[in-house]
Amino acid sequence: MLLKDKVAVITGAASPRGLGFATARLFAEQGANVVIIDLDAAASRQAAATLGDAHLGLMANVADEAQVSAAVEQVLGRYGRIDILVNNAGITQPIKTLDIKRDNYDAVLDVSLRGTLLMSQAVLPAMRTQQGGSIVCISSVSAQRGGGIFGGPHYSAAKAGVLGLARAMAREFGPDNIRVNCIAPGLIQTDITAGKLSDEMKQTILSGIPLNRLGDAQDVARAALFLGSDLSSYSTGITLDVNGGMLIH
Ligand code: NAD
Repeated sequence: MLLKDKVAVITGAASPRGLGFATARLFAEQGANVVIIDLDAAASRQAAATLGDAHLGLMANVADEAQVSAAVEQVLGRYGRIDILVNNAGITQPIKTLDIKRDNYDAVLDVSLRGTLLMSQAVLPAMRTQQGGSIVCISSVSAQRGGGIFGGPHYSAAKAGVLGLARAMAREFGPDNIRVNCIAPGLIQTDITAGKLSDEMKQTILSGIPLNRLGDAQDVARAALFLGSDLSSYSTGITLDVNGGMLIH
């Protein structure tokens, strides 16, 4: 088992078809104690319970500093350490540049970018004390190719911000044996786009994917396992593309 007795916190992991829950399940199968953090307390508890008794489901809005620190305190109270953080919580909005209002900007940037910063700030002191840890941040191919898949320009900006933040944290915390890496998924079939993509849109997207299929949550979960575990022990500050070849460059 790759994660035996490791403690892994995964944000946005209560959605049953989402990338976060698929990652939580795979991490649990690999021996980790998994903490699911999401907006709804009951949904988080329920998702954790389906993985077994060793796991914990907590409520926190990742963009709310007080809720984030309260959740991380509970994790440390129960397990005493945090080995892995997966910054997965995110929302998107399919709107164009001229339609982005302050509320749109705040909502999308707050979850992906502020949330990644706040959650990382909350776990880094414990990781530093332990002199080890792995932070995995979920960005998007939208950050690399300037959108054009589903999310609007503010989503691309938020996810590009995550890449920069992760690289800077990787540089700063490398001496403490804390690795920080990103995954940039392509189009993965989850509820984030459920019912919002027409067959025509899917066909157009598929024509640009050499592997000729959309991604599954498992495809991203396996990449998170690689980056979260010691399999990637000499990698920090990298961006792992999980997009079926959509962005060969
Ligand atoms: P999803 O909608 O299935 O899951 C997102 C989860 O995040 C939900 O459970 C939601 O409740 C939670 N969440 C939202 N705001 C939150 C907040 N403020 N605090 C805590 N939790 C919050 O989406 P998904 O497709 O599984 O997406 C997971 C991540 O992957 C997101 O960051 C998304 O931007 C990114 N991503 C997804 C795709 C894709 O095609 N599905 C592609 C690239 C990147």
